[in-house]
Amino acid sequence: MIDYHLHTSRCCHATGTLDQYLAEAEKKELAEIGFADHFPLGLLGIEPRNQVTMDPEELEKYMKQVNTLKKNSHLVKVKLGVEIDYLPGTEKKVEQLLGKYDFDYVIGSIHFIGDWDFTHPVYAEDYKHQDMDDLYRRYYELVARVCESGLFDIIGHIDVVKKFGYRPDDNLDSIRLETARLLRESGTCLELNTAGRDAPVGEFYPDRGFLALCCSEGVDITLGSDAHAPDQVGRYFPEAVRLLKKAGYRELTVFERRAKSKQPL
Ligand SMILES: [Zn+2]
Ligand SMILES: [Zn+2]
Repeated sequence: MIDYHLHTSRCCHATGTLDQYLAEAEKKELAEIGFADHFPLGLLGIEPRNQVTMDPEELEKYMKQVNTLKKNSHLVKVKLGVEIDYLPGTEKKVEQLLGKYDFDYVIGSIHFIGDWDFTHPVYAEDYKHQDMDDLYRRYYELVARVCESGLFDIIGHIDVVKKFGYRPDDNLDSIRLETARLLRESGTCLELNTAGRDAPVGEFYPDRGFLALCCSEGVDITLGSDAHAPDQVGRYFPEAVRLLKKAGYRELTVFERRAKSKQPL
């Protein structure tokens, strides 16, 4: 099994060393892991109210450390990934920066709508002042832009806007179908992210219906725990694998220097 969404203490809201994450992956007999720590927002010219990514000067050290682990790890294959915030207007900058580095894969994630970090527990109260239909519509517009940008290999936690349990009244069927088609057309991979089970919403990103729809539309899939502590590596994976199979998936997508290949689930 693979876990493509691991953080490190560099982002300042996760704990544990890379070795501890690797040791946990060995214990859980994972075949492959990928670190995908938060790319420095400072390099995109953005300074959020709370620090949620590594500092710009940490990036080289992060890459070096993961690359060293890659060479030295024999039981578990290690990949160098990164999770980059998608913010409209930063596309050129991201493209330029990605040209400079040699990642195995790049996850594009939406954590911000405007300057609101809607995934951060500190700002969860702000949901109470939102129109949910409008919020979900704006969120999925950003998802569409992630796909259209062509900058990212994987979209992170695709329906994370549900994280705190706020739901729209509107039916999301047509938005989901449009999203699944955009993912396929742009070659953007979906991830089944198991972290949502431990969030107030209590379910994976995405839920079973969205997952099945993506499978039937031919969208590729990866798997990630979004671990922010070593003991979260591979969390809920037996359940995730059952869900993936039920949804119709038979293969997982893996990456090497941003080239895709498939392996049996
Ligand atoms: Zn994080
Ligand atoms: Zn994220």
